[in-house]
Formats: sequence, C-alpha cells, structure tokens
Amino acid sequence: MRIVLVGPPGAGKGTQAAFLAKNLAIPHISTGDLFRANISQQTELGKLAKSYMDKGDLVPDEVTIAMAKDRMEQPDAENGFLLDGFPRNVSQAEALDEMLSTEGMKLDAVLDLEVPEDEVVKRIAGRRICRNDSAHVFHVSYKAPKQEGVCDVCGGELYQRDDDSEETVRTRLEVYHTQTEPIIDYYKAQGLVVTIPALGKVEEVTARSMEALAREDA
Ligand code: AMP
Repeated sequence: MRIVLVGPPGAGKGTQAAFLAKNLAIPHISTGDLFRANISQQTELGKLAKSYMDKGDLVPDEVTIAMAKDRMEQPDAENGFLLDGFPRNVSQAEALDEMLSTEGMKLDAVLDLEVPEDEVVKRIAGRRICRNDSAHVFHVSYKAPKQEGVCDVCGGELYQRDDDSEETVRTRLEVYHTQTEPIIDYYKAQGLVVTIPALGKVEEVTARSMEALAREDA
C-alpha cells in the first residue's frame, strides 16, 4: 500500500506511522527524520534544512522533493510506503502524483489525523524524543519515562526537539493551516481521504487507522 499521513504537528503522526508501517510491512518514510539525520551528519542539506526547521518554516520544495523521491526509489519501498510529513503543500502533492504516475502507481489512502488545537500545543510542549529512534516518544506528563531523560525502550537519551519550543510551534501550526491543510482538499477531490479521530490511546488510534485502511483496500 502507498499511504500518506497528514495532521498537525503533535497529532502523533510519527508514533502512528511507526506502528502502521510495522503492521503493514512497509517502510515508514518521514521527511522530518531524513532532515534530522542530515543535520546530525552535518551534511550541506542538513545545514540548509536546519535554517528553515529552527524557525518552523518549510524547507524549500526543490530539495525536499528530491530527497523524498530518492528515498521512495530505494528497493525497500518498491511494494509500498507510508509517508509521514510529505507532502506538506500542494506543489509537493502534485510532484508526488507525477512521480507515481510516471511509474504507473498511485496512492491508496490519505489518513488525516484529527486532534483539537489546544491538545496539540500541550502534546508538543511536553514531548521528549529518543536520540536513537524517533519512534520512541515520551511526554513529561502524559507518558513520563520511568527514569527522567532516559528512553524506556532502549535506554537512549531523551531530548526536546529544537523546533518544539512554544514560539516555533506557533509558526508550525500556522504553516500547517496555510500550506498543508489545502492538500486535504486536494486529496479529497481524488476520494482518498479518511479522517481518523486521533485522541485517545495510541493503540486505539492505530486500530482505527488499520480498520480504515482495510475498508479502503476492500
Ligand atoms: P516533522 O518531523 O515532520 O514535524 O518535520 C520537522 C520540520 O522539518 C518541519 O517543521 C519542516 O521545517 C521540515 N520538513 C519536514 N517535512 C517537510 C516537507 N515535506 N516539506 C518542507 N519541510 C519539511
């Protein structure tokens, strides 16, 4: 299956994507994770991306689309993938459609994770992520690790993303509303959107998503 996950920052895209990708045996492709890997390896792309990410802005389309395309062309993505954080505007969505149609492929579903805005802000402000694996996500009050600053899953160091500061989060939400939300209408016109209420336990949201995908696949 070829799936796109959309939703505001803090909707739980990364967490859900990790579970769904595992259940569906397809790679989880997160452009945010790819940029963060470039930043920690201090590549030129990483330096460029960081200057936008730190402000909460989108990294320019040209480099983002090239990076996403390169990842989607890897052998493990031949039979499907779950995109998390890409596309993030209509130009990227059009580029993705073009990329897929050249190969005679198309998307199967777009899952739209819906979370109220005040909840999103609370989630992001307390979010702590493992340095070893961005799917190991904790929260200082909702899901506190047993030992402060240490990942329960692998013992890695937990950190707060630079762009999870309150000021940057406000910009990211604004960018989401103005640039990313229009892709939902774009995909609605293709009959691909399934809205998933994303409040509640992680497992419940995963189950809702899996049920929705099974319906789409039927
Ligand atoms: P995420 O981990 O998905 O929340 O992404 C973190 C940041 O990476 C975003 O706020 C953007 O600055 C950048 N980013 C990730 N994906 C994209 C994309 N598809 N287009 C442009 N910028 C992106």
